[in-house]
Amino acid sequence: MLVNADLHIHSKYSMATSPKMDLPTLASESRKKGIQLVATGDCLHPRWLAEIKKLKEEKGVFRLDGAYFVLTTEVEDANQVHHLLIVPSISKAQELYEFMKPRSNNIDSDGRPNVRLNGEEIAQAAHDAGALIGPAHAFTPWTAMYAYHNSLKECYGDMAENIYFLELGLSADTSYADRIPELRCLTFLSNSDAHSPYVNKLAREFNRFEMEEISFDELRMAIIREKGRKPVLNVGFYPEEGKYNESACIRCFRHYTHRESIIKSWSCSCGGTIKKGVKDRVNELATYNEPKHPAHRPPYLHLIPLSEIIAMAMGMGTNTKGVQGIWNALIERYGSEVAVLVDSDIKNSGVDKRVVDAIIALRCGKVKVHAGGGGQYGRIELSAEPMNKNNCELQKSLFDF
Ligand SMILES: [Zn+2]
Ligand SMILES: [Zn+2]
Repeated sequence: MLVNADLHIHSKYSMATSPKMDLPTLASESRKKGIQLVATGDCLHPRWLAEIKKLKEEKGVFRLDGAYFVLTTEVEDANQVHHLLIVPSISKAQELYEFMKPRSNNIDSDGRPNVRLNGEEIAQAAHDAGALIGPAHAFTPWTAMYAYHNSLKECYGDMAENIYFLELGLSADTSYADRIPELRCLTFLSNSDAHSPYVNKLAREFNRFEMEEISFDELRMAIIREKGRKPVLNVGFYPEEGKYNESACIRCFRHYTHRESIIKSWSCSCGGTIKKGVKDRVNELATYNEPKHPAHRPPYLHLIPLSEIIAMAMGMGTNTKGVQGIWNALIERYGSEVAVLVDSDIKNSGVDKRVVDAIIALRCGKVKVHAGGGGQYGRIELSAEPMNKNNCELQKSLFDF
């Protein structure tokens, strides 16, 4: 079976998250989005874990209103690097909590705790607990592995060979990461890192896996690609849309090339700091000029949330009644946002032709993206021409209607 999964979110117990990041809302929003398996996020947090515990558990996943949850957490290590952990059971989450509590000042207050351990020590603890671990949003210019390290080995030491996945983050895709030879054997995850449960945030990036059933073991096998279980699709933003794609000033958002940034010693004319963009960082790390995809790498499908496509097509704001009405009509007819965007022939959907044309144009990659940087998201507009010819062929090949 094919399972759509978003494996990185945060609960209401993390800083700067929506109070609606609770289990019932996550379950109902996932259903509308078309995601079957959702991360709990924050599974070391005692109060969040107590809420999860009340759900019906089977084979390491937790059920609520048709959605399945898997235990995950993000932790920040002593070098400010974020790691994503996918945890097999409540008791293993409790073990990890007991181990990290003496090494953390905020594990009881913040769903995304800071721990005084390095990457190797956290990876060892995860390994001992039977959890999977990998770098979260690996290329972002802060709180990420490649912001502070030049290799997996530098971050994880001898545990590097137990790292099976890397999370790409919103500012990178497969074409970026497959220019770096050390990542060849890893599975790439595309997750939302959502702080709010609504469908333009939750699962704005997700993974599609081939698995036999929805369970922790099946997910584990899919990530390490065992016995035919595997990722079959990564879905996410155009990397240029990410807020750290290009090098740019974090105060006035002026963009700079890598060369200009170096000449200006990473200091903007306005006095602000220029933050190195993911594009420039990948160029520094890359061995290949063009991506070399290993045979196991699934295609990467670039998408944007349906409400944003409708808003663009109709020239209305995303939160307007007009946009909501069309969104509801499409979801009612096809069942979920992923069904509308990815899996259905929508030509006879009955909604405004401009919306249908926009979805089809997006599927062919006919967009123009104004790159983000310095913490400001990029901006996307529809265009008559595909942004990237290769991408266009790939996108087209995914839709056989
Ligand atoms: Zn993070
Ligand atoms: Zn500036």
